[in-house]
Amino acid sequence: MTEKTDASTGKVTVTCQFCLTLNRVDLNRTEQRPKCGECGKPILLDRPVKVTEDDFQQVIGGADVPVMVDFYADWCGPCKVMAPVLDEFAHAHRGEVLVVKLDTDHSPRTAEQYGIRGIPTLIVFKGGKEAARRTGVVAREELENLLAGD
Ligand SMILES: [Zn+2]
Repeated sequence: MTEKTDASTGKVTVTCQFCLTLNRVDLNRTEQRPKCGECGKPILLDRPVKVTEDDFQQVIGGADVPVMVDFYADWCGPCKVMAPVLDEFAHAHRGEVLVVKLDTDHSPRTAEQYGIRGIPTLIVFKGGKEAARRTGVVAREELENLLAGD
């Protein structure tokens, strides 16, 4: 996957949660309620978007904005604590950050590739490369530091 840098845009590649087709979406135009090019259903970007090991590289590499990934699992209590915090963060930063979540039970290859030892683990990717990570429950303010790459 080649990285296209269309300057002046905030385009991201995300998977439609309904039909699993990859879509290019301009985050500067999310008020216009982007729809999936395949099935026409809305693409919601003010909440974490699910990714899997099948589309992970395309989503991470296809974003003009930072991507925050929540590595989680359904059985993980601390992950449930993080979920509403990430929802709020995604909503507050819509248009600036793409927040996605990856179920480590369903996508073990990606979790292993990034050396995920505990969950929740949050990793911020910039330009497709890891910029910062935290493991464990993280406070809302700390997410801002993580986004800044500290
Ligand atoms: Zn679709």
